[in-house]
Amino acid sequence: METNKTKRPAVVVVMGHIDHGKSTLLDYIRKTNVTGGEAGGITQHISSYVVEHKNEKGEMEKITFLDTPGHAAFTSIRERGALVADIAILVVSAEDSVKTQTLEALKTITDSGIPYVVAINKIDKAGANPEKTKLDLVTAGVYLEGMGGDISYAEISAKVGTGIDHLLELILLVAEVSDFTYDPKAKAEGIIIESKLDPKRGVQASLIAKEGTLNKGDFVLVGEAICSTKILENYLGKQIDSVSASIPFALTGFDALPPVGAIFTSYSSKKEAEAARADQTKNPRKYDQQVLGNPNATAKVVPLILRADTAGSLEAIEKELEKIVTEDITFKITSKGIGNINENDMKLAVADPNMLVIGFHVKADPNAVDMHLKNNSFMEVFNIIYKLTERLAAILEERRPRKQFEEVIGTIKILKVFSRTKERQVVGGRVTSGRVTSNAHFRILRREEEVSRGSIVGMQVAKISAKVAEENTECGLLVESKFEVAPGDVLECIVSTTK
Ligand code: GDP
Repeated sequence: METNKTKRPAVVVVMGHIDHGKSTLLDYIRKTNVTGGEAGGITQHISSYVVEHKNEKGEMEKITFLDTPGHAAFTSIRERGALVADIAILVVSAEDSVKTQTLEALKTITDSGIPYVVAINKIDKAGANPEKTKLDLVTAGVYLEGMGGDISYAEISAKVGTGIDHLLELILLVAEVSDFTYDPKAKAEGIIIESKLDPKRGVQASLIAKEGTLNKGDFVLVGEAICSTKILENYLGKQIDSVSASIPFALTGFDALPPVGAIFTSYSSKKEAEAARADQTKNPRKYDQQVLGNPNATAKVVPLILRADTAGSLEAIEKELEKIVTEDITFKITSKGIGNINENDMKLAVADPNMLVIGFHVKADPNAVDMHLKNNSFMEVFNIIYKLTERLAAILEERRPRKQFEEVIGTIKILKVFSRTKERQVVGGRVTSGRVTSNAHFRILRREEEVSRGSIVGMQVAKISAKVAEENTECGLLVESKFEVAPGDVLECIVSTTK
């Protein structure tokens, strides 16, 4: 599989209890870090922005912030099975410490499986008690660094700006470890983060791609809605020609209102987008026949449909699957994408009983569940990657073609031939290596070439019937073979096992 993966910025969501300082934090970061001083004059166009910050190595790196305090947008997006954010910041006021919505936010974050860092805020306040807040966090299951865990935290004042550089550094560290990538040459696909009907301009939406690049001239499809890229703007409202993954942008001119959290895909022409729209309602998804690994020509291929929350997850899963496939059995990814398991997926599974439908951090649409239950087709959803790989590895093991292996346990050099009747011969020989059993199968080697095969029917050692002849002993054998054994031949005794 040819890929062209490049690092993409992390998309960050800020969550926490009301009044703990989420908006203040987002405002501070926007005002002080948006590139080129652009933030000053121009009003922000969409509720998402990009900042630049120095990483450990002193290089500037971008971070995208979803500027939607409160987790409503985040959860509604999540409910649709898509995860727009890669990293969360859990904001906790050092004055009030852990509150109900802190716990709710924490649950949403941990359920979604994305990494997070903690911002202990309002440390400038007289009533702030960061130490108590940290203890409360640990009690709530947030095992902070230096307190028995590895969750990074920064003590900050969103108002004054204390500790915010450190917070941004932590984000970049998490991003570094998580290794968020995208393929710049791929068609853009991602998530709608907001949409509205402007009486003058028409239907507008803000989007973030999690994969690929959107170029002017492309067409975007979201559910039933299609939009051209004639009015493609960055988050500051400036016209742009292209936009890559993780960078928020706005599109105007959708022919229907796309729901927040919906997945978009993009196409090079309107025709293609319309065809995909027609196809998605009428036909099951097309097979793109992506076979993983380097299988044999005769390898068994297990068809697989993958649905995941993000392009990053899909990619991670594919990477893991590459590790478990073998030359003899592999997966063919029939269809993959961001979003829930849908009815079309289950149609494909019903049509092909070998098909596995796998979801990661997504749900199955009700229709898909119905079809799954009615047809008993294979559909499973996972939230932990290694569980998914473990399960699929077990299926490969179960389904892989069995191979016969032959192992030479001993060799006999034929010294004499006594008699032959039909296909049976009485011969005498010496065990030249290993040991030979009285029911062994053998290959007959003449001048080191296999000329035929046969089996031992009876054996005597020192004229007494025996079950085993050890190395360096002479034995008399009754052998059965279509081929006539002659002195000088070597019988290579083998056991065959199925592996
Ligand atoms: P949100 O509901 O989580 O978005 O909280 P806000 O950002 O609206 O903050 C709630 C209140 O706390 C506002 O009055 C802010 O000015 C104040 N606030 C937020 N962060 C800080 C801080 O670090 N220090 C101080 N002293 N006040 C803060």
